[in-house]
Amino acid sequence: MFAKRVIVIGWDGAGNFVREARTPHLDRLIARGAYTYEAKAVIPTISAQCWGSMLHGVSPLKHGLDNGIAASRAYPEQSPYPSVFRAVREARPAGELASYVCWKPINNGIIEQSAGVRFVSQADEELAEAAAGHIRECSGLDLMFIQFDAPDIAGHKDGYGTAGQMRTIAETDGRTGKVIEAVAARGWTEETLFIVLSDHGGGGERPDSHGSSHPLDQTIFWACAGPGIRAGSAVPVSLTITDTAAVIVHALGLEAPSQWEAKLPEGLFSGTA
Ligand SMILES: [Zn+2]
Repeated sequence: MFAKRVIVIGWDGAGNFVREARTPHLDRLIARGAYTYEAKAVIPTISAQCWGSMLHGVSPLKHGLDNGIAASRAYPEQSPYPSVFRAVREARPAGELASYVCWKPINNGIIEQSAGVRFVSQADEELAEAAAGHIRECSGLDLMFIQFDAPDIAGHKDGYGTAGQMRTIAETDGRTGKVIEAVAARGWTEETLFIVLSDHGGGGERPDSHGSSHPLDQTIFWACAGPGIRAGSAVPVSLTITDTAAVIVHALGLEAPSQWEAKLPEGLFSGTA
């Protein structure tokens, strides 16, 4: 049973602090799907490296991205490590692909400019409205990535895992709910695979920063729900953010590019154990 579309919602810098935050929308998603609070980011635990590994299915050594590079140049079109958007585009030439992000380097420097992706960059609140509007009005949708930045901004400002960051995580859950509700309003819930995850945590070596291999920096939450995912399916402890790429293409019934290191978590989808 494959999904008609995949929607990935990233909560930047939220680590696994979501466990203690008020997140009713995430909780409802988790209740009908699979999740772990013990997945791992890549090292270094920095946004471009981590989102880069999620989107390209390989380690930072291979995709070569860091925040400075992602902010200053387009992702090389000749890279042997295609993004998940490129992989889906090749399989679905007429597919509708969209990336709605707060942190612009994802759209400008991590996803290939030639992959035919609708790129939108806005602050989180407007971003949630725009993404929900896109879902309500589009003729179809194959793959959408949404990145909310506020949890990371709050972590840098107030400290990771603090009450201030928890409030921001709760707000991010509300924005995520707008997207989930837009999908429901179209009658698409049963045919849509949602993945909600963080790229890294923080507070490991410094209360207001991240980047190290400390468990507080490296441990992330990872949740998914949709076709082929049984409620309560176990997520292997070995799951890394990189593996998300393999989950996305598998959910759509596509083969992962052979160069990817991303591994499909065993037993996540019915029939893959
Ligand atoms: Zn980040």
